[in-house]
Amino acid sequence: MSDSFDVVVIGGGPAGYPAAIRAGQNKLSVACIDEWKNLDGMYAFGGTCLNAGCIPSKALLESTELYHRAKEEFAAHGIKAPDVTIDVGQMQKRKAGIVKTMTQGILALFKGAGVTPLQGHGKLLSGHRVEFTAPDGARRELTAKNIILAAGSAPIELRSAPFQSPYIVDSWGALEFASVPKRLGVIGAGVIGLELGSVWKRLGSEVVMLEALPDFLAVADQQLAKEALRHFKKLGLDIRLGAKVTGASVAGDTVNVTYTDAKGEQKVTVDRLVVAIGRRPYTKDLLGSGTGVELDERGFIKVDHECRTAAQGVWAVGDCVRGPMLAHKGKEEGVMVADLIAGHYAEVNYKTVPSVVYTAPEMAWVGLTEEQVKAQGKAYKVGVFPFLASGRARAMEQAQGFAKIIAAKEDDEILGVHIIGPMAGELIAEAVLAMEYSASSEDLQRTIHAHPTLSEVLHEAALAVDKRAIDSINR
Ligand code: FAD
Ligand code: NAD
Repeated sequence: MSDSFDVVVIGGGPAGYPAAIRAGQNKLSVACIDEWKNLDGMYAFGGTCLNAGCIPSKALLESTELYHRAKEEFAAHGIKAPDVTIDVGQMQKRKAGIVKTMTQGILALFKGAGVTPLQGHGKLLSGHRVEFTAPDGARRELTAKNIILAAGSAPIELRSAPFQSPYIVDSWGALEFASVPKRLGVIGAGVIGLELGSVWKRLGSEVVMLEALPDFLAVADQQLAKEALRHFKKLGLDIRLGAKVTGASVAGDTVNVTYTDAKGEQKVTVDRLVVAIGRRPYTKDLLGSGTGVELDERGFIKVDHECRTAAQGVWAVGDCVRGPMLAHKGKEEGVMVADLIAGHYAEVNYKTVPSVVYTAPEMAWVGLTEEQVKAQGKAYKVGVFPFLASGRARAMEQAQGFAKIIAAKEDDEILGVHIIGPMAGELIAEAVLAMEYSASSEDLQRTIHAHPTLSEVLHEAALAVDKRAIDSINR
């Protein structure tokens, strides 16, 4: 096998593997190095997302949502299922099967695109060289005109609550519980906390979430965050805001957590504790000396808007660089870089990266929040339409939440869209496309939406921007 390539990608997660595939599609010779090992000791491409993130979490969210609906909603449909039970072992087996199929699929995609897979460790050296260490310790030096770093991220550990498996765990640990913890503590009421807290709550855990900030979902539009908090409280998530964790210690089979809040010192005892306070870029043993690649003060690899590092011919994409830590953001960066290397036009529009939180109700947004628009001093209009007024949502017994569209007063351009409700993550795609084309709310108003569909909620929200909604009273 040749040790010289047009492109070497280090990292085979959702940023790295699409970069390798697109490079192959562009007729470049390409190798992709990845060192991810699963709990069974097997190497697997796909990174955090496919092995321990997006995919396994969505598998568990789907299973537990079905269980929850069978118990709580079937009766409303007239379906009698009094003895619904959950087999956690089977649920976990299904999840593992999905992960295996998806990760093995990457090898097939590599074959199709002519990508050389290399499982083991990659280290950038100076002068367009990469050191590859195979699982048996054998080392090879590869050369490449272009090298793409896609090393991803790792969970942040909390000094006052260090990981101590199986009691104090990160998100991967929380995806692997073999039984339902009676009491589950979650530090951080962010995306992971809410998704994994929901999974175990639906199966019967008493879930306490300790969030340091006084505002719930501070990054989201606050109208949406308020609505979400109301629903999560109804589900039974005990979300405690302004809670600063001061310690966590394992005592027998339980974990004692201490924290302070506005009322002073507090204590809570749980059976398992998940720490989900964010992720940090992962660059361990990635950079040899004299590469010229620079890190910022938080450890992210410094890149320009086209993901070029300070070293000629070295690029970096995904969670290890600035921007939201999302699989689709990393994918677009990887594809952009592979196209730029091949001399094609490519760019990523960071203004239209959608966010989705796969809870029930689901949340999704793109663009600016109302708070951000206000802070910019821009004159704006808002249209809100509730799922309560959607025939389809009612037929689905999921008439919760709303769609909200913010448009500029001056030229009606859509500035932000925020949805909480059924299938919000699917519905947001229309808003992303609209914003990608700099659409106005009038453009959405004049677009025909099939009846009865959930997408009509977005249509009516666009009409509501100009107080012309048909299926609700305009105020
Ligand atoms: P990673 O996926 O972390 O992949 C990096 C890969 O590089 C890894 O396989 C790693 O082993 C390998 N690597 C690192 N250094 C080296 C080296 N020196 N040599 C060889 N290999 C190396 N995002 C979403 O968009 N939607 C979701 O629903 C979602 N759900 C999530 C749920 C959870 C529980 C978690 C933890 C994350 C979730 N994310 C989600 C975030 C998403 O997983 C990340 O944004 C995404 O995986 C980042 O992709 P990446 O390729 O940059 O990094
Ligand atoms: P996050 O940034 O979404 O949430 C972390 C939360 O922890 C925040 O609310 C923060 O205020 C809080 N926090 C921080 N320090 C704390 C402390 N000491 N005590 C208590 N609370 C504290 O991070 P996450 O939930 O860990 O997720 C990590 C990344 O993974 C995110 O960037 C996210 O984009 C990505 N992810 C995405 C999805 C999705 O797209 N659906 C799902 C899971 C994860």
